[in-house]
Amino acid sequence: MIATKEALKIILANVRALKAVRNPLDKVLGCCLAEDIWADRDLPPTDRSAMDGYAVRAKDLAESPCELRLVGEVAAGSAKCPKVTAGTCVRILTGASVPGGANAVVKVEETTERDDFVKFLSITKVGANICIQGETVTKGRVVLCKGTVLNAAQIGLCASVGKVAVKVYGRPGVTVLCTGRELREAGVKVEPHQLRNSNGPALRAALENAGISRIGHQIVPDDPRIIAEKMKAAAAKYNVIILTGGVSVGKYDFVPEAVRQIGATVRFHGVAMKPGKPQLYATLSGNRHIFGLPGNPLSVLTGFGELVLPAIRRLSGLDAKSCHVTLKLPLVRSVSSKANRAAFVLGKLIGSGKGLRVRPVESCGSADLVAGAQADGVVLVPKNVRRIAAGELVEFTPWRSIP
Ligand code: AMP
Ligand code: MG
Repeated sequence: MIATKEALKIILANVRALKAVRNPLDKVLGCCLAEDIWADRDLPPTDRSAMDGYAVRAKDLAESPCELRLVGEVAAGSAKCPKVTAGTCVRILTGASVPGGANAVVKVEETTERDDFVKFLSITKVGANICIQGETVTKGRVVLCKGTVLNAAQIGLCASVGKVAVKVYGRPGVTVLCTGRELREAGVKVEPHQLRNSNGPALRAALENAGISRIGHQIVPDDPRIIAEKMKAAAAKYNVIILTGGVSVGKYDFVPEAVRQIGATVRFHGVAMKPGKPQLYATLSGNRHIFGLPGNPLSVLTGFGELVLPAIRRLSGLDAKSCHVTLKLPLVRSVSSKANRAAFVLGKLIGSGKGLRVRPVESCGSADLVAGAQADGVVLVPKNVRRIAAGELVEFTPWRSIP
């Protein structure tokens, strides 16, 4: 059995970023940039006023109070600009280009205007209230680097340097096949011997959380022929297939057999982690990937966070180093593990910012989704470590984004 870190290494060695595509700005939120974005002109493109007020020559205001003759107006978007000469000023609105001859802007609040004359109540300095051309960025400078996962501000920046579309890595389509003849979807009648399918909705949500929009999901019975058929059909449409259940060594665990039937290459089967030991990873040609997660809900969520999500991030274009995100956080209470493999213990985040800590959440085992619902992620208790004391730093994998 291989260690979790080794399993992650094998996955990342097999997964490649999907082909880059040029997409319009309204389709790239959360996508990973596949090109550098540079400024196509200086920002701001001219010297601009930061205030509503009057453009002046600073030396004309040497004596306060003084009066200057108003010779015109310039607003944001005005192309024509009256010149400021000795003894004159121009009314200027925020965002307008500073007229030739002027070297300062005085805020309207520090003036009074009457009959084409403006009275200035204070002196001013050269450059006051003026944003200098190129002070934000100069033409040709890179403003966003390849590899950036685009947020709202960054998409705004792309538009401000003239982009209507940018090159981003494609995002994978992912399908979830939940195996188990005991499974029923919520909303239909369940008999005592049957179980509601919670893995399907949980994985769909976790995928949406990771920015995936092309998601398939269905229940599949414990039949190797049908599992193989469904996988084959899914492999024609999706980059990633996640199976839940049926991956261990029980009489009705047919996932490994079905994976081999469709000609996939098994890269590992069995990971030294708790929960999630029987995990399987296989590949098909053409950068297609199959994950078999044991069926218990907490095994599914842990396996997804530790191994599947990093693969999805890599396919989406993130570099390998950024694919598995963990935080080093102090423990609020001690945790212990009797497992002879790495244990992932549920944890809840407490506090915020630099005061962020993690409190272990007790569970009755890997089927305990009530405990799982209290947690924000998992704490790693490494192999051969029996106990980690309160206050010590632990590695925490978040299941949600941390504000
Ligand atoms: P398996 O890995 O198939 O042996 O399943 C392990 C346990 O997880 C069994 O108790 C299953 O009934 C349960 N289980 C399997 N699939 C699901 C699912 N989709 N939702 C909730 N529980 C499941
Ligand atoms: Mg099963």
